[in-house]
Amino acid sequence: MKIDRCEEADVLVVGGGTAGFGAAVAAGRKGLNVVLLEATSKIGGVMAFCPGMPWGAAYPAGKIVGGLMAELTSRLEKMDPPAAEKRPCTLDNFGPEIIYDHDIATLTMFEMLEDAGVKVRLGASVISPQIDDSAISAVTCFDRNGPFMIRAKIVIDCSGDGDISAKAGVPYSIGDGNGNSMGMTVSFHMVGVDWDTTFQEPDPYFRDYAAKGIAEGRLHKDLAKLYLMKGFHRGSVFCNSVHIRGVDGTDPVAIGQATQEGRRRCHQLSQFLRSDIPGFSNAYMTLLSPTVGVRETRKLEALYKLTGEDLARGTKFYDGIVCCDNPIDDVMRSDASMTHDAIVDKGSYYTIPFRSLIPANVPNLMFAGRILSADPVAFASVRGMPQCMAMGQAVGTAAVLALKDNLAVQTIDTQVLVADLIQQGVNGLGNEPLV
Ligand SMILES: Cc1cc2nc3c(=O)[nH]c(=O)nc-3n(C[C@H](O)[C@H](O)[C@H](O)COP(=O)(O)OP(=O)(O)OC[C@H]3O[C@@H](n4cnc5c(N)ncnc54)[C@H](O)[C@@H]3O)c2cc1C
Repeated sequence: MKIDRCEEADVLVVGGGTAGFGAAVAAGRKGLNVVLLEATSKIGGVMAFCPGMPWGAAYPAGKIVGGLMAELTSRLEKMDPPAAEKRPCTLDNFGPEIIYDHDIATLTMFEMLEDAGVKVRLGASVISPQIDDSAISAVTCFDRNGPFMIRAKIVIDCSGDGDISAKAGVPYSIGDGNGNSMGMTVSFHMVGVDWDTTFQEPDPYFRDYAAKGIAEGRLHKDLAKLYLMKGFHRGSVFCNSVHIRGVDGTDPVAIGQATQEGRRRCHQLSQFLRSDIPGFSNAYMTLLSPTVGVRETRKLEALYKLTGEDLARGTKFYDGIVCCDNPIDDVMRSDASMTHDAIVDKGSYYTIPFRSLIPANVPNLMFAGRILSADPVAFASVRGMPQCMAMGQAVGTAAVLALKDNLAVQTIDTQVLVADLIQQGVNGLGNEPLV
């Protein structure tokens, strides 16, 4: 097919989820010409597919991760009325989290991209890279007007699934390495809930109610625990309970089927909540996921693969770019159940190394977010949105360092990078303790 549209950029960011947001804002603020392509019609990625999902793991060892996550939170908290707040998580082993108004948060993220001078292109997908001498010389893209080309000096893959990195030859595994990925989820909100009545229930998972619904054939058997959390606005409840097992998140047909199946189960659950759970009798369903939220697909291979042992030791890497203490938040891989076992002692934390975002062989490609290089245990902990945003911020900053001295991304000085991130307010890096 003939391509007669071609654009130039310093940095192309593929995907506008939390990682892509972080990467594009960081690089844009440093004066680079940044283009961000997002296949859907909204910024946020999974955050937009499961609206109102809390920003978890934002407070490792009780201190905010800092950087863009802290800045975004602070902007929302300072609004009148405030559009975000810090709350304790009701689930085992999770620290405090940030709950926010979904629409105001995504609007604010878009504004931060605009302010950073990023050219945001919604409804535009990156299709494939062209490789010359092991580097990506251009990528083919597609929007409603047909194919176009972007020639970028650096490509940052924040697509969640890593299609472009895989096509550029970066080795990868899927899920646990045997093809088993975590369950995916369709979420929704109930509004008009009487919080005081509902949250008198001492079991945060409402297990006795769920067991009755399953026994009577009114709920799917995977709904043994109902994850019902207070939403940001009084009277709203976020339902993060409907998980679909065994779907390949890189297969768009399977994604469509999982979305429809999940939506069916959400409707069934919303009816059950109204009829069986105290406080829901006048509530109704809203903000049903537009598409299923995918937790896990490809894990790319990088200069370093983060492991569960690294986390358990509380490793602070010399090139650590964000802190984390999230539990091993595993969701129904294969026929397994949900777990969130602690990985570090309370008050301890580990860092995510920059090298887990850098492929060995492509000199102008980096990646960030849920496609980082990690074993399945480490992945289950590192994948929270605050960490994904910070990974993005790190690679966006690294792009500036690489372009300034015309370096391959594998050779940038990580100590300069870490120092820059500390200056940008990222907490607990280098020799700075997280206090
Ligand atoms: C159901 C669910 C519940 C979760 N709960 C929590 C929670 O409570 N707290 C928490 O902090 N984290 C939670 N997580 C984890 C967290 O949401 C994700 O790990 C994180 O949002 C991933 O961000 P990302 O930017 O790496 O990828 P994504 O959010 O997947 O974003 C990737 C973006 O790239 C776009 N894209 C893909 N391919 C292309 C292409 N070729 N061209 C252009 N655009 C493309 C996609 O449309 C998407 O917008 C949850 C995840 C799920 C699925």
